[in-house]
Amino acid sequence: MVDAPSYLEELVGVFGHPVAENPTGVMFAAAFAELGLPWRYLTLEVRPADLAAAMAGLRAMNFRGIHLTIPHKVAVLAHLDELSPAAALMGAVNTVVRRGDRLVGENTDGKGFLTALTRGAQVDPRGRNIVILGAGGAARAIAVELALAGAGRITVVNRSAARGQELADLLATRTPVPTGFVPWSGPYTVPADTHILVNATAIGLPPRADARPDLDEASIRPGLVVCDVIPAPDTPFLRAAGARGAQVVDGLGMLVYQGVLGFQLWTGLEAPVPVMHLALARAFGAA
Ligand code: NDP
Repeated sequence: MVDAPSYLEELVGVFGHPVAENPTGVMFAAAFAELGLPWRYLTLEVRPADLAAAMAGLRAMNFRGIHLTIPHKVAVLAHLDELSPAAALMGAVNTVVRRGDRLVGENTDGKGFLTALTRGAQVDPRGRNIVILGAGGAARAIAVELALAGAGRITVVNRSAARGQELADLLATRTPVPTGFVPWSGPYTVPADTHILVNATAIGLPPRADARPDLDEASIRPGLVVCDVIPAPDTPFLRAAGARGAQVVDGLGMLVYQGVLGFQLWTGLEAPVPVMHLALARAFGAA
């Protein structure tokens, strides 16, 4: 007797608003095809007022997990059964994993950054002095993971003093790393003893893709590691830093590795990293 074929697919995806230009699905489609998995990644427009219904639908339809992007990363906490320690510390979730009938919140943004830094660019942040521009969701995730990874010192530089101070206080009270906050109200001079500088702001994001963080660029010296979270293979900020002899790390790697971590959490399988990287680079016209 021949077994009946199964046409069931495992579902994952992303909830966001607006989400149409989110390229993550391309990377997952390539990974599922590479491994021959009957999985599908859906890019789903969910308005803030509909998040509760969308999360209930996720449970009802047995999704294996979901990514959350702007504006759902904090609001989703009310719809989860459990948080990973890092997600609890950050107060934000970008990846939900179904374990049995429980939904567990994780945050892979900072871990994706850290993996791109250590594995992609071969930079070890342990004991290093780090300056992070920004104090929003991405900066928070990156700062927490760098602190947990053993950074030597973290300085938060942010336009809004309240938000910047809040992140510096979080790091000072919940992690062992020495921390400082500098209000950002004019060209910022990168201290000479800085090893790693991270643009974790939205400066450089389309439609203002030509914008650069307000820095005294003469303080970017050869050998400084300069990272940008803008998800692109190149930005004007990284080009300017590279021209001054800095080692540059783009935000595409962060996006690839946060996807790689999500793939592994959802499927329990090793992710085909080169295939995912190539798919994303192609989506950005860079391969
Ligand atoms: P948030 O809105 O939470 O935070 C934005 C941050 O940028 C704040 O610190 C804000 O400062 C600062 N900022 C924005 N505009 C300016 C400006 N003109 N001058 C100075 N500071 C500014 O956004 P997220 O943290 O979620 O996202 C930030 C960036 O990270 C985005 O570009 C996003 O695309 C990117 N990202 C990349 C990922 C990747 O995988 N590569 C993953 C996640 C995010 P203030 O507090 O003063 O408003």
